[in-house]
Amino acid sequence: MIKSDVLIIGSNMMDLITYIDRMPIEGETVEAPDFEMGFGGKGANQAVAAARLGSRVSMITKVGNDAFGQQQLTNFKDNKIDVSGVGIGTKSSGVAPIFVSKSSNNSIIIIKGANNELTPDDLQANIEIIKNAKIIVLENEIPLETNYAAIDLAQEFGIPILLNPAPARKDLDLEYVKKVDYFAPNETELATLTGLPASNLDEIKVAAHDMVSLGVKHMIVTLGSRGVLSVTDQDEQLINALKVDAVDTTGAGDSIIGAFAHYLAEGKNELDALNLANQYAAMTVTRRGTQKSYPTKAEVEAHYQ
Ligand code: ADP
Repeated sequence: MIKSDVLIIGSNMMDLITYIDRMPIEGETVEAPDFEMGFGGKGANQAVAAARLGSRVSMITKVGNDAFGQQQLTNFKDNKIDVSGVGIGTKSSGVAPIFVSKSSNNSIIIIKGANNELTPDDLQANIEIIKNAKIIVLENEIPLETNYAAIDLAQEFGIPILLNPAPARKDLDLEYVKKVDYFAPNETELATLTGLPASNLDEIKVAAHDMVSLGVKHMIVTLGSRGVLSVTDQDEQLINALKVDAVDTTGAGDSIIGAFAHYLAEGKNELDALNLANQYAAMTVTRRGTQKSYPTKAEVEAHYQ
């Protein structure tokens, strides 16, 4: 039987990164100087972060019956992630063509493909994995009805659940948000979800407290280079970001989520877990790439000893 510390029910995508001098206009062909592929998708990123920190991680996701799907499976296995909950869909694997221009502004297209085929039935098919998890992590790149079914199952089995509402969806049902143990948007997602301004720390605090007053148990708002804010009806804590030379913040949000889940599953209290996750995320922004930038437990220990 699979017993995981961290169960990720979420997405996987292949990032197709094209470095461009300029975007083609409609009907035009342009040559681009460079291209690379990278493993991505919020769920997969979170899984890799937790696994590199030493958690036993299971992933419930769907890939396509294609080369990218096979590469995703290999990548999960390379990161010691249990793939018994990975299904094969009828659509293509999820892909994200990303166009990076000289000004470093990214234009991104997301084709969710098989990720959209992850249904509540797939959760039933993997019920043993769900029952035996220590914590379940969800994000919004899979169908909302699947997230809702996962939240109901987690409640039934008494398993803590962390929902990272990314990308933000205004139709996210507050009744389900109130059921999760940790609700973790970034500042932009917080603004979208609440309809409140969140451009400075005071506004962000007001918006986070607003969600708590509506019945959300524990808000964790990631604030980029400002760190992370934790708000419950009892407590408010701002954890400052570490001062580092940031070279690439892609995937930082997923890294802090995966790391937080890992440290909670390891038995750390919430504040310690968040502090350690904040340290983990700071290391990832000093390195280029997404999953490539996620350090292992040994690297973290050597860095912060
Ligand atoms: P997202 O990618 O979802 O927008 P954030 O940008 O909020 O996520 O970053 C997530 C976490 O990564 C932050 O809460 C912080 O811990 C860390 N982080 C991000 N940018 C920096 C930075 N420039 N310096 C140090 N830590 C950072």
